Amino acid sequence: MIPPLLTILLLLSVVAAGQKKPADLILINGDVRTFDAKMPRAEAVAVSGGKIVAVGRNDEIRKLAGERTQIVDAKGRLVLPGFNDSHVHFAAIGNKFSSLDVRGLTSAEAVAAKAAEYARFLPKGRWILGSGFAAEFAQTEGKRLHELIDPATPVNPLLLYSADGKWAFANALALDLLNDGRSSTTANGSGERSIDGIISGLAMRQIASAVPADHLRNWPEILETASNYAASFGVTSVQDMHSDELAEVYRQLDRAGKLKTRVYDCSPMSAWPKLVKLGIRAASGNVMVRTGCVKYFSEGDEAEFPELRRDITAADKAGLQVMIHAIGPRANRIVLDAFEWAAKKNGPRDRRFRVEHAQNAFSEDVPRFARGAIIPSMQPWLFSRAGPGIFGRHLRLHAPLAFGSDAPMVGINPLLGIAAAVTGPGGISVEDAVRAYTGGSAYSEFQEKVKGKIKVGQLADMVILSEDIFKVDPERIARTRVIATILNGSVVYLHRSEN
Ligand SMILES: [Zn+2]
Repeated sequence: MIPPLLTILLLLSVVAAGQKKPADLILINGDVRTFDAKMPRAEAVAVSGGKIVAVGRNDEIRKLAGERTQIVDAKGRLVLPGFNDSHVHFAAIGNKFSSLDVRGLTSAEAVAAKAAEYARFLPKGRWILGSGFAAEFAQTEGKRLHELIDPATPVNPLLLYSADGKWAFANALALDLLNDGRSSTTANGSGERSIDGIISGLAMRQIASAVPADHLRNWPEILETASNYAASFGVTSVQDMHSDELAEVYRQLDRAGKLKTRVYDCSPMSAWPKLVKLGIRAASGNVMVRTGCVKYFSEGDEAEFPELRRDITAADKAGLQVMIHAIGPRANRIVLDAFEWAAKKNGPRDRRFRVEHAQNAFSEDVPRFARGAIIPSMQPWLFSRAGPGIFGRHLRLHAPLAFGSDAPMVGINPLLGIAAAVTGPGGISVEDAVRAYTGGSAYSEFQEKVKGKIKVGQLADMVILSEDIFKVDPERIARTRVIATILNGSVVYLHRSEN
């Protein structure tokens, strides 16, 4: 017979074993569109270890909360899987914040608002540099700007030059660098601190000399800026077409906990032998940073065809993913020809060739995408004038359509792309447009098993939107804001209204 105390202990251990560890984060009161056919809609989601562990009703999911669980109340709003932008130039997005053009900004309020926008996305300590003030700005607006600028830029030194370069405006953090931060309050130009932020001569040169020489090439800061920016638009994954091979910088940012975006970092086609030597194949890496895609550019020139065919075949044979830029009927035809040739030569494989842009293909070539399982990686907002009819055609043919922006060519905001894809003759449904911007782009980077749905086992990347884009008219889709962005089960962006 088992002694009573031991019985109780045994019973306790059974209960403990059956009890799940509390969730790290719980999202409740959401209008959750899961894009999971088994349960298309839900109210709540539980996350543990960066992954979705339960999806269901509020009362079911609430039970998984413990004392330390973070609760995100969606307040009845629409919740979607995080957006995945299949075509960006990430460093160029970040670099847009490396200089501030103040030409045309005539009021102190406008300059301060612009500086505040920069400060929202820049890492702490990164300089805000710019130029373009008209000569009279110092007299008319200088004092006012001095009052507005410090609250707008609390953690970033700022230095904005006049158009003629004779004087500049500095914020308090920049001025602190004069005299080793010892404050003094006398005239400008003498090397001492200016009282109104307007400086010239020696003082201006001294502050300028404190700006790091690598400001425009500080990739960790530049990519962190781009990541902060992307998070504010609900973009949780990007596929970086910039061919700058910054994967190591992305990894470094990830280790430092500063990367808010999952990145598939593509290399130029010419790098394929190097990648192969490093053991890299399509979509190699971890859940945050992956490589193994090579990108090439086709202008539709027949003369390039033999080389294109040779390179694609070799890179594909080595297990890399090949994506080729093509705009216009001839370019699309040459790329499709080369892809079909390489696929035939290398034999069947899940290779996921991609045509970047895939715009204006000959009508008779459009079915070749679906037939060859070739991904049309398209940008509905950038090419909005071409009309959305092509997206519907690809979907009816069952081509693996993926959406992106080509930012910074145009804004990274996926809602602009979704609005463009659903508006006008031949527009596709909002559901199909969102799918192309989530699951479709996940497929285009071999990640559809872990991204693109709000489903148990997938990565916990979600976005809460201000409007129900399934109900409002397309014009309001374009104006819809992101309320919160969740990456890996952490809130990485929260709209001001929610703070
Ligand atoms: Zn591009």
